[in-house]
Amino acid sequence: MESGTVGTTTETTNGGVGKAVEPELLEVLNPATGETIANLPVDGAEAVAATVARVRAAQPDWEAMGIEGRYHWLGKLRDWILDNQDQVLDTMQLETGKVRADASNEPAYLADTINFYGTQAAKFIGDESVRPHSPLLAAKKLVVQYRPYQVVGIISPWNFPLILSLGDAIPALMAGAAVVVKPSEFTPLGIAEIADAWKHEIGGPDVFDVVQGIGETGGALVDNVDYVQFTGSDRTGRKVMARAAETLTPVSLELGGKDPMIVLADADIDRAANAAAWGGMFNSGQVCISVERIYVEEPAYDEFVAKLVKEVGGIRQGADDARNPKDVGAMTSPNQTAIVEGQVDDALANGARALTGGKRVPGPGDYFEPTVLVDVDHSMKVMRDETFGPVVGVMKVRDTEEALRLANDTRYGLSGSVFGERGNAERVARRIECGAVNVNDVLVNYFASDVPMGGWKESGIGYRHGAQGIRKFCRTESLVITRFAGKREPTWYPYTRGRRGLIARMVKLINGRDWRRRLGLKR
Ligand code: NAD
Repeated sequence: MESGTVGTTTETTNGGVGKAVEPELLEVLNPATGETIANLPVDGAEAVAATVARVRAAQPDWEAMGIEGRYHWLGKLRDWILDNQDQVLDTMQLETGKVRADASNEPAYLADTINFYGTQAAKFIGDESVRPHSPLLAAKKLVVQYRPYQVVGIISPWNFPLILSLGDAIPALMAGAAVVVKPSEFTPLGIAEIADAWKHEIGGPDVFDVVQGIGETGGALVDNVDYVQFTGSDRTGRKVMARAAETLTPVSLELGGKDPMIVLADADIDRAANAAAWGGMFNSGQVCISVERIYVEEPAYDEFVAKLVKEVGGIRQGADDARNPKDVGAMTSPNQTAIVEGQVDDALANGARALTGGKRVPGPGDYFEPTVLVDVDHSMKVMRDETFGPVVGVMKVRDTEEALRLANDTRYGLSGSVFGERGNAERVARRIECGAVNVNDVLVNYFASDVPMGGWKESGIGYRHGAQGIRKFCRTESLVITRFAGKREPTWYPYTRGRRGLIARMVKLINGRDWRRRLGLKR
């Protein structure tokens, strides 16, 4: 695999240095301190194939258990997560450098997702009875059955180590598939802990496991599974899709974003500024759907910028602890800090101004100051490429049309937000070219599991959440069942003149849309 060879220092997708520097071991660091917290054995191609084969063998019984049976087991997993929240959050903080408040979204999301798919799966993937559209099929009963892919492989990034691994495993497992997760090499510990609990504390069926490693392990997973759920950069997404094409394995790709926020002149400016600060800086800006570009209508611009700078300037950054809570934590991957710094430096060199922040914070740990840039334009990388850090660029626009033109001037299309009078803002939201738009809010669409979430353009293929979020892990099997019938159909042998004439008359009767044709009166 191009993106990583275990045993050497390797280039990762984000252009930085991977951590598999010991033969067969993955070194895991605490980003808040830079200290080594674990060395994990790497799973090579043979180990991956063996894990997939093992869960594949257990899958038929899991599928046969039905939705209620599977919810019973996933309910036990939900209870374990709720009962062990502190342990889950401690591990997550250790391997990501997140502040506690950001980390605590993950167990909440997982418990909610188990309940959501546990209670909705029957509606989404239960048998569908379909009324035949044609009288020729009147004697048939039509049923669509959803059958899972046997083994789903999940390859996940480091920014939300559980939401983006277990969060996708939940609907796949609810669908009846077995699941193998390959977590990010930066954040392998939390999901491994949960897989361990599934096996040893919960005693769950052998349909869920984790393999560890870099790109090579991910590639081996793609080769062995029946469906690939990938979340990560568009650069790795292309490689995964190309590799999956070799075995004609279907993929769902949740990739990067460059989400716009539009602030209309009639917006509540306090709310818009507070939302931009949180939506841009939450999780140190390492969120695929974070606010990265802001377009503000001229009459609101000065007030909005002043309030945004005040809010962002007041953010407390650093290593979090219970007595001294912080708002923004560390960057999880040092590679990403270098990308953020490069984009900000490039913007500043080309005429942008940082009204607050703008620099890497000196060590220990890996931090970048929460940053608001103005005097930016679309010639700058910071307004074109995904930043994935605590930085927003703000532009003044003449009117809505200019805001929409700039918002849509991107190769990405993950999500966006619009602030303004509700009706007005909704009209604008409908014209943004992306998978989801929040009106008078930010990021919240990710927690609205009822509706699909996915990327347009180079932000991805496929959707998570809603009916699509579970149906994608299934193949459909249509059953066309004959309810009553004679010894033979008119279309079967022997072909006689009489039957040919009968069929011709039937074709007109059924498909004609005026009575003369139907009755064969018009030639
Ligand atoms: P990445 O692409 O570097 O890595 C993602 C995963 O792919 C990791 O587990 C990595 O080990 C694995 N991988 C690397 N090379 C591989 C290969 N050749 N074959 C198979 N697997 C391989 O992404 P990242 O840096 O971990 O995450 C950040 C990116 O993820 C950002 O672009 C962000 O926008 C995106 N993201 C998207 C969503 C979404 O829902 N759309 C959510 C979160 C993050």
